[in-house]
Amino acid sequence: MKDARAGLSGFIFDIQRFSLHDGRGIRTLVFTKGCPLRCRWCSNPEGLSPARQIMDDHSKCIGCGACARVCPRGAIRLEAGFPISRADCDGCGRCAESCPAGAKTICGQLKTVDEILAIAERDRPFYTHSGGGITLGGGEILSQPAFVWEILRRCGQRGVSAAVETSGYGEWDWLARIAGLCEIIHFDIKAIDPIRHKAFTGQDNALILENLRRLDRRLDELSPMPRLILRLPLVPGYNATEEHVRETAAYIRENLRNYQEIELLPFHNFGEQKYKKLDMAYELTDRQNTRPEELSRLAEILTEAGLPARISSW
Ligand code: SF4
Ligand code: SF4
Repeated sequence: MKDARAGLSGFIFDIQRFSLHDGRGIRTLVFTKGCPLRCRWCSNPEGLSPARQIMDDHSKCIGCGACARVCPRGAIRLEAGFPISRADCDGCGRCAESCPAGAKTICGQLKTVDEILAIAERDRPFYTHSGGGITLGGGEILSQPAFVWEILRRCGQRGVSAAVETSGYGEWDWLARIAGLCEIIHFDIKAIDPIRHKAFTGQDNALILENLRRLDRRLDELSPMPRLILRLPLVPGYNATEEHVRETAAYIRENLRNYQEIELLPFHNFGEQKYKKLDMAYELTDRQNTRPEELSRLAEILTEAGLPARISSW
């Protein structure tokens, strides 16, 4: 996306400052909007669509009807909570702008690279003292690669350390270019078996695994070499199984050599409320969080295979 006045811009759904996750030290997390995968456990459903959306919290509605009056598409139903007919909504945002109760809020904003860098600049003292930096995630960063690349390039010019998180589902040329500008790359492995991968995420994993192998080789050419951290989201009922972890360990040993660490991500259902606000179905309502002893056992399998495993603290 190009904005003639302010340079390259992109669509994001959140910025979290002072985070201690997703990289070293204190970090500024930038979440890009839009993802080609549909992981059934996704905890950021507002990052899936590349378009602007309205988050709708019916419990805050005071019934004033302002939203229905301003909606140019007649997309708001005159019922308790004034719900949105999503198929008729184009995300113009007028309902949220007129809502006095904060029940309807806009999710998704266009930001220029300059605006993102200005935030990083404000946080720079925290990076300096903690070894932190900026982390770009999503959504999927490869859905807006030019925007992400330009942020990373300019962070590099300013000496701001940068990390990315990716599913690996995107164009190799962009991933190769982005890798050359990062200190840390977090790369998800969700399933090795292509049929299971498609069942869990809606997409085949051939492109992802090919990109991962190519990235691993590309790291040999980069100096300093970025830290490649492989991430295994482990979701009960899907892939929190010994079989999946063994299969992944075998794949890593056979195909990769430049990873620094394998991080096990326990499942949590923090995203459930966001599904409700977007009128999206959440499949994992009754799913238990991954138990610590279960995680320890899965981490042990990796360690026994000679791989550097770590359980994420969140
Ligand atoms: S975002 Fe626009 S079209 Fe959608 S419900 Fe609100 S006012 Fe109507
Ligand atoms: S404007 Fe907000 S508070 Fe008023 S009816 Fe619409 S959602 Fe409810």
